[in-house]
Amino acid sequence: MQKPDIRGIGMTSQRARDRLVEQLREMGIRSEVVLELIRSTPRHLFIDEALSSRAYDNTALPIGHNQTISQPYIVARMTEALIEKGIPDKVLEVGTGCGYQTAVLARLVPHVYTIERIDALHQRAREHFQMLGLRNIHCRHGDGSRGWPDAAPFGGILAAAAPIGVPVTLRSQLEIGGRLILPVGKSGNQALLCILRSADGFQEQQLDWVSFVPMVEGVS
Ligand code: SAH
Repeated sequence: MQKPDIRGIGMTSQRARDRLVEQLREMGIRSEVVLELIRSTPRHLFIDEALSSRAYDNTALPIGHNQTISQPYIVARMTEALIEKGIPDKVLEVGTGCGYQTAVLARLVPHVYTIERIDALHQRAREHFQMLGLRNIHCRHGDGSRGWPDAAPFGGILAAAAPIGVPVTLRSQLEIGGRLILPVGKSGNQALLCILRSADGFQEQQLDWVSFVPMVEGVS
């Protein structure tokens, strides 16, 4: 296999990444750990070569199958919320897509589980993980709204697709002290929530207004 161009050239260069990190800082991302992860994760390797000049723009980009790679600000915001009280040992991600958010998580969290409902995307993400030598990712083709019961409980769960309401099954796979970060609501009116599980139950906090693809049941 050809060695991936991790550093990138032209618009995939360090300068483009530094500019992106400055934008995220201005937009309110405070965690230096997260900013450094965004700086050093090669987003250009997750998208079609024809789009690589836009790889470090702070926008979502198409990845085929009517899906998008998440906007870097959103990846940073969700990762920051996930690790606010410390880095969890085991995290579940719903909606692998091309695997960009998964790769960011895997460079921080010891064990990452991720589920994608579209088989072609799942296969492509798997190739990306191999290419980058990320060996702490367990990826599966399936319906992530049911979580991953065999690997539960998780210290963190992160969803990259928006259900209409919080799936109770996902919430129940959090450990005590764990947090679920997910967008909820219909397209055009979605809130990014952080749900904390304590010994007494669940507390909900709204982080932002966001725009995600819908969480769809079943596989394709
Ligand atoms: N973080 C990803 C974002 C991908 S977009 C990235 O950076 O590439 C969200 C993904 O969620 C899509 O690929 C979509 O197919 C997937 N998805 C939607 N509903 C799902 C479900 N129930 N289970 C698993 N994946 C789902």
